[in-house]
Amino acid sequence: MENIRYNTLEKIKSNGSSNGKATEEKKKISEIFGKGVFSLSVMKEYIPEGPYSDLLSAIKHDKKVSYDIAESVAKGLKRWAMDRGATHFTHWFQPLTNLTAEKHDAFYKPSFDGMGNGIEGLSGAELIQREPDASSFPSGGLRNTAEARGYTIWDPSSPAFILKTEAGKTLYIPSIFISYTGEALDHKTPLLKSSALLDKAATAVCNYFDSGVEYVTATLGWEQEYFVIDAGLYKLRPDLMLTGRTLFGNKSPKGQQLEDQYFGSIPERVQNFMMDFERESLKLGIPVLTRHNEVAPNQFECAPMFEELNVAIDHNLLLMDVMNRVARKHGLRVLLHEKPFAGVNGSGKHNNWSMATDGGKNLLSPGNDPGNNLQFLTFFINIVKGIHTYEELIRASIATPGNDHRLGANEAPPAIISVFTGLQIADVLKEFKKSGLVKNKNAAKKGLGLNIPKIPEMTLDNTDRNRTSPFPFTGNKFEFRAVGSSANCSPAMMVLNTIVANQLIEFTQEVDKLIGKKVNKEKAMVGVLQKYLKESENIIYNGNGYTAEWEKEAKKRGLSNHKNTPKALQALLQDKTVKLFEKHQIFNKREVHARYEICMEEYVKKLDIEAELIKEMATNYINSSAYAYVNKLTSDYKGLKEMGLTQHAESIKQTVDEILTHVENIKSNVKKLETELHKAHAKGNATGAAFAIAEKVRPTFDDIRTSADALEIMVEDSAWKLPKYRELLFIL
Ligand code: ADP
Ligand code: MG
Repeated sequence: MENIRYNTLEKIKSNGSSNGKATEEKKKISEIFGKGVFSLSVMKEYIPEGPYSDLLSAIKHDKKVSYDIAESVAKGLKRWAMDRGATHFTHWFQPLTNLTAEKHDAFYKPSFDGMGNGIEGLSGAELIQREPDASSFPSGGLRNTAEARGYTIWDPSSPAFILKTEAGKTLYIPSIFISYTGEALDHKTPLLKSSALLDKAATAVCNYFDSGVEYVTATLGWEQEYFVIDAGLYKLRPDLMLTGRTLFGNKSPKGQQLEDQYFGSIPERVQNFMMDFERESLKLGIPVLTRHNEVAPNQFECAPMFEELNVAIDHNLLLMDVMNRVARKHGLRVLLHEKPFAGVNGSGKHNNWSMATDGGKNLLSPGNDPGNNLQFLTFFINIVKGIHTYEELIRASIATPGNDHRLGANEAPPAIISVFTGLQIADVLKEFKKSGLVKNKNAAKKGLGLNIPKIPEMTLDNTDRNRTSPFPFTGNKFEFRAVGSSANCSPAMMVLNTIVANQLIEFTQEVDKLIGKKVNKEKAMVGVLQKYLKESENIIYNGNGYTAEWEKEAKKRGLSNHKNTPKALQALLQDKTVKLFEKHQIFNKREVHARYEICMEEYVKKLDIEAELIKEMATNYINSSAYAYVNKLTSDYKGLKEMGLTQHAESIKQTVDEILTHVENIKSNVKKLETELHKAHAKGNATGAAFAIAEKVRPTFDDIRTSADALEIMVEDSAWKLPKYRELLFIL
């Protein structure tokens, strides 16, 4: 029988690593960076002085952009895009699907003068607002299908860009997406609101120290982890194509045990791909600057220079799109799923987050003497307190079916939210709690006192690294490590902005009250911070987050440990959550509940797809391969019997029996899966279905897989149709 897997492997063998279509770039990065972006410096050439400075000031100070400004920008934008050969434009937005959306329109508009004339144009009105049919996007009940109107509205704070495909160029205009009744239908709207909220709250705190601070921006530097595999093998795995992860597959004998992949030499085919997608990204203004091999075989990472939060998130979404497009040209596929392969590391997207003033000061920079740096301690302790108060909401913000395979599944990081401070800051906090501000005479950075010939002395960072914490402080920023690799960073960052802003607002209220009572400002601040620290230090954990002891300890401390998405999402329904969002007008109650509903539905739908595919693959791929092999063994058995080799014949019979036992186990568990799935849907609502799926259906996936993976090593290699882990993970 022809084996398509063998044919594909044969093809890869003869193509080797020449499969990629790499193009050599001789230009320097500085020559290509931002070439496809309508950046502020480009705008300066295309927009008159007045509207330009008005726009700049509106962006910086979170003010509304007027219609007149928009009209000027539209004119300039159109001229710029058409000068570069763009024929179409689109609003580019982020519906609640976790992907971006676009609907293209031509610049050209025919006129009805009977002369066949037309004009190319983009008016201010078109730049500002479009109205795509919104009825087919998830709304969580905010809208029924009869009320289809949704509006996309230009986001002036994220620059428009031109995306080039082989056939032409299109202008992309980053936008928000809202319903006819003004409710948010996307991720960007609440994010922008939360950033403005944080700006105000953090600026007020900065003004205690420096009245000259005018605004504060949240900054984000994400690190994107991903796998790369050969496109030919990808196409032979229906599970990768439909779910992004392998639903079956026996562990490769060599996985990541030897730790020889991390930071290893990058395979040439992948390096060509990386250089290509980085170049495309750089042209779009994404400052992606670093690349390396990650821990698992065929796993990699890239990271940019950090940027303003909203722009950084748009850039991450754009990067994921660019990666997918470029990978195909190289005969490769990118896997962004959180856990494409069992048994080796999954992928995350670390969100390095901080805040900076208009003067460029990083508010989480501890300086040389953190124990005597009240501004640093103020922001640091308020963040710790905010996380402590809303740890469940933080957990909910990163809850997705894909991330369930990482969080709470003995993999980095755990489902328990905690903060790692590092030992130096831990000491500082301990001292601060007891004695307030303390000047440290030996505060300057220490060296290790290395005594190695020729090697220069090194300076030590103020924290070591902790890979097991979901939220470590890494010297001058927090690194939210628990965000999923395929996620839109917005929900996590929006929640973080909101809880930190909320906390800073409470802080200023308490401090102002004390100042009103004639307490000295510094004394007031120190006192309130000491109280906060005592109230919230339970969230600080500097040990190994993977251990069973931490699970026990965290439970004692009253920290939550929600190991699956349906449980984690319950935090969205809590009064405390709704009040938080309502108080700061990020969401109204209806919007929060809609988001909960959408996430639950997404969980159900994604697991439904996995369940259906497991059924199909178990039957058509796994059991059918097993039967084909049994068929062969049966004739071997007969032959051996005829030859009088009874003992050997019996051994074969035993193998057949073992194989068929697994086959039967798969069959009975597939039945169970069907029954449980049916029962889950009979609950009639997303919450009921999601819990039933998490508790009753998902375990059948594992039982089916155990037998299927056992069969993979029993069945003769040439009868196995699915590419094996060793092929997916080691061929490039
Ligand atoms: P690592 O996580 O390996 O320590 P880096 O120190 O290079 O790596 O930082 C990782 C990411 O953190 C980069 O994207 C970087 O731009 C970002 N980063 C650095 N400083 C800040 C900051 N102040 N705010 C937000 N992100 C930052
Ligand atoms: Mg990192």
